[in-house]
Amino acid sequence: MKRNLLLTPGPTQIPPQLCAALGRPIIHHRTPQFQENLKEAVEGLQYVFQTKNDIYLIPASGTGAMEACVANLLSAGDQAITIEGGKFGERWTELCKAYGAKPEVVEVEWGSAVDPQVIKKLLDENKNIKVVFATLNETSTGVVTDIKALADVVKKTDALLVVDAISGLGVVDLKMDEWGVDVVASASHKGFMLPPGLAFVAVNDRAYKRAEQTTSPRYYFDFRKAKKAWEKVDTAFTPAIGIVIALCESLKWFKERGLEENFKNYARLAKGTQAAAKALGLTLLAKESCISNALTSINLPENIDGGKLVKIMRDTYGVSIAGGQGYLKGKIIRIAHMGVVDEYDILTGISCLEKVLKELGHKFELGAGLKAAQEVFNT
Ligand SMILES: *Cc1c(COP(=O)(O)O)cnc(C)c1O
Repeated sequence: MKRNLLLTPGPTQIPPQLCAALGRPIIHHRTPQFQENLKEAVEGLQYVFQTKNDIYLIPASGTGAMEACVANLLSAGDQAITIEGGKFGERWTELCKAYGAKPEVVEVEWGSAVDPQVIKKLLDENKNIKVVFATLNETSTGVVTDIKALADVVKKTDALLVVDAISGLGVVDLKMDEWGVDVVASASHKGFMLPPGLAFVAVNDRAYKRAEQTTSPRYYFDFRKAKKAWEKVDTAFTPAIGIVIALCESLKWFKERGLEENFKNYARLAKGTQAAAKALGLTLLAKESCISNALTSINLPENIDGGKLVKIMRDTYGVSIAGGQGYLKGKIIRIAHMGVVDEYDILTGISCLEKVLKELGHKFELGAGLKAAQEVFNT
């Protein structure tokens, strides 16, 4: 059996300990035994979300958490701001429209981050904005948003700040309570190193009150149902039992390593990958000022077909990286630094990238990327 190294920004590698937890025989969920798991999972998540707020566990991929936010916080006709600097920012806009809300779209050049002052101006001009939707780590571009600065702007208004932290949580810093973020959404298959199928939404009181007033139709994703169940340490519907149990193991790892240590580690992996790309004569998509530590997006020269590069790396050598999305399809590659990925995984990825770039005719000195990354990792 061949290696299958995932350096993709979701799903991510599942370490053996978590595979073992996922493989345990199932238990029933309406039991004191599972209640212990639920409590442990929510408390562990509160540590990673840096919050004391309720966190609802919803069996769904990440988009389910996003839909839950829109369905609970906006009624048809409500105005909202969405920030579009990539594929996932666009998803907020599409979800708002699906619920009959009116998103005011702030377009940001892909590779750049939103200027919080632009949001401030819009909020000053229009007091009817109910929600500002942002993305912590825009996975299609590798840009990190300054959520603290955004929260400073939004918390002075009646609008709520909702952050898609699906790929960024536990990887880059997000202090939900200290910064004053109202809602944070995440999911199991990025930084948490689990299969897709479990989404998380942390909701503060201000946002919960809004959910009680919203008139959008909702059933499965209703925060009111989730809260009522959680008051009895229960879930409204059958939870993703196996993933919740494995999540407890994942969260132990976060606690043992410590969030700060995690952030430092991913920053180092990102710096090494960035240095490698430059040493191979390639440029980075994200601007220096907003480059994310959760993944590195690398521009490819015109003569290199990104689709082909990704395919050869995966199918011939067993190393998965991601290609570009939207208009960047075939033009960039993306290497993730999240979950259990360490420097030797990154070095394997870079070495494979070098091999295939050579095969495809890119000119550089073999080993240049590895050397540059090693130098970062050894300082
Ligand atoms: C992965 C991801 C999502 C959710 O995508 P799903 O396919 O529904 O899991 C949303 N936002 C960001 C930033 C992501 O990286």
